[in-house]
Amino acid sequence: MQAPAIGGVKIPRGNGQTVRLPRGASLADFGDKIGVNPASLVQVMMHLGEMVTATQSVSDETLQLLGSELNYVVEVVSPEEEDRELLESFDIEFGENEGDESDLAARPPVVTVMGHVDHGKTKLLDAIRHSNVAAREAGGITQHIGAYQVATEVDGQDRKITFIDTPGHEAFTAMRVRGAETTDIVVLVVAADDGVKPQTTEAIDHASAAGVPIVVAVNKVDKEGADPQKVRAQLTEYGLVAEEFGGETQFVDISALKGEGIDNLLESIVLTADAELDLRANPDQDAQGVAIEAHLDRGRGSVATVLVQRGTLRVGESIVCGDAYGRVRAMLDDAGNQVQEAPPSTPVLVLGLTNVPGAGDNFIVVDDDRVARQIAQQRAARERNAQQAKSRRRVSLENWEAQLAAGDREELVLIIKGDVSGSVEALEDALVKIDVGEEVALRVIRRGVGAITQDDVNLAITSDAIIVAFNVRPEGRARELADREGVDIRFYSVIYQAIDQIEAALKGMLKPEFEEVQLGTAEIREVFKVPRIGNVAGSIVRSGTINRNSKARLVRDGVVVADNLTVESLRRFKDDATEVREGFECGIGVGYNDIKVEDVIETFEMREKPRV
Ligand code: GDP
Repeated sequence: MQAPAIGGVKIPRGNGQTVRLPRGASLADFGDKIGVNPASLVQVMMHLGEMVTATQSVSDETLQLLGSELNYVVEVVSPEEEDRELLESFDIEFGENEGDESDLAARPPVVTVMGHVDHGKTKLLDAIRHSNVAAREAGGITQHIGAYQVATEVDGQDRKITFIDTPGHEAFTAMRVRGAETTDIVVLVVAADDGVKPQTTEAIDHASAAGVPIVVAVNKVDKEGADPQKVRAQLTEYGLVAEEFGGETQFVDISALKGEGIDNLLESIVLTADAELDLRANPDQDAQGVAIEAHLDRGRGSVATVLVQRGTLRVGESIVCGDAYGRVRAMLDDAGNQVQEAPPSTPVLVLGLTNVPGAGDNFIVVDDDRVARQIAQQRAARERNAQQAKSRRRVSLENWEAQLAAGDREELVLIIKGDVSGSVEALEDALVKIDVGEEVALRVIRRGVGAITQDDVNLAITSDAIIVAFNVRPEGRARELADREGVDIRFYSVIYQAIDQIEAALKGMLKPEFEEVQLGTAEIREVFKVPRIGNVAGSIVRSGTINRNSKARLVRDGVVVADNLTVESLRRFKDDATEVREGFECGIGVGYNDIKVEDVIETFEMREKPRV
């Protein structure tokens, strides 16, 4: 069957068969699946009143609209669905508890702290961590592993709460985008001296979109001008009505700075969980959960914090996490203690993965290493394919910067076409005069008067050029070709606009400049000789944090005595640490032996300076 010829293009129609496309596919991807030239799909879309290029990724609706026009049933598959199917092919179901009601046991709530910047999210997380009885008893100081668990007593019972230790909304939304529902309750921090602010309402929106109940922590009540009642009144407008106003939302006045009200807050979290949620999981099945944070550690290899959501994770088990896999070699809890098993809602640091998973990646315990490896490899292959599909897209004004950052491009190649020779020359003159310094070159490989021809587009393809069109349009097949091949054609009718845009892109192409930013300082209290390693500085962190692998210098009486050092080893007590915060003691090795008591170790990093 043939579709009505649109613009002279005949397109073979389907007969109702199903076409599966990944979310965010382009017309070119669609064309590939049904064996049709993408340029003709562009024309069909135009006929349907939508202007899209062949390579741009389009919405689900557009794919479906195009499908029904051509008599195909389009099934848009999200990455999560693809992954679910992959796991199903190994007989694994992610996300569901195995067994029936009788297999379920209560699990602690998992809490994320959100709220406006500077309202005290970080302080609150610190205050809660320090109230952690369990860690104090173990004699340790909690490490930052991305999440921690505290115990509190409610109605005479010991109850636990797990906190995700990354304040802010990015972590929450990034995980949700990846399909990971980790958070049971949001603690919304609102400063009593500042009230409801844009990110406060943003947090409310995120929480309600996820269907997660909110407990409001009215912070900074110690401050002059604090008005906790006003916060309550303001929040009623957003559907958060305090109990004293006849609503059901728990509001707790706190001072994160002074550590006041923390116990009440913990109690309110437990009460909210009990009243609104049925938090249970099967502790006896193979463990499943999500990665919260991960990095590569020089000494220990891949180090990942995972949150167990159901089942119990044990040392020695085979797991797959995103495209990383391996045997759990060791597990550490948030106090740095080795643990053998982690039940539901417990965050643990897992050692033994082959590489570093991403935050939000799910993890699953599988029967044997082989299955873990196969799942990981298939995920990695899928990721590679998606990357390749993206990199097939050619240079455009928008992606210059990214390509430059990847070290791909330091020359911007242009083809200029215009309606009259005067305008082409004027444009070329102006463009080559843009002063962006020595590091980036702009090269015009062709200039001419008249419409953009297929030959122009072919030249752009072979030399990765961008076409600047001044008051002209592509002729006939040139547009089709450009669309199919993803050549960026920029249309202008005002010279200044052209110059502005290209100048901005060129500036983005400039190599970044760096400036030094101090990260932390530590004072040396004692010098230890360690065999084979040399002298290690027993220190106390005086400001900021000391991070392993960061650059360092040694300062004695205000004079730099050694530069170009690196924090090669960092230990708290006997354990390796990646980061030690202000006020804590640690052992620092900088690979330099002439260190003395009272010397100061300064750490810093080089940060990119924004251009003006
Ligand atoms: P975040 O951006 O929400 O993480 O906010 P921070 O936790 O970094 O806190 C911002 C500022 O408010 C810091 O200077 C804190 O010391 C201060 N702050 C936080 N909580 C309190 C509090 O309860 N009382 C007072 N007076 N200051 C606080």
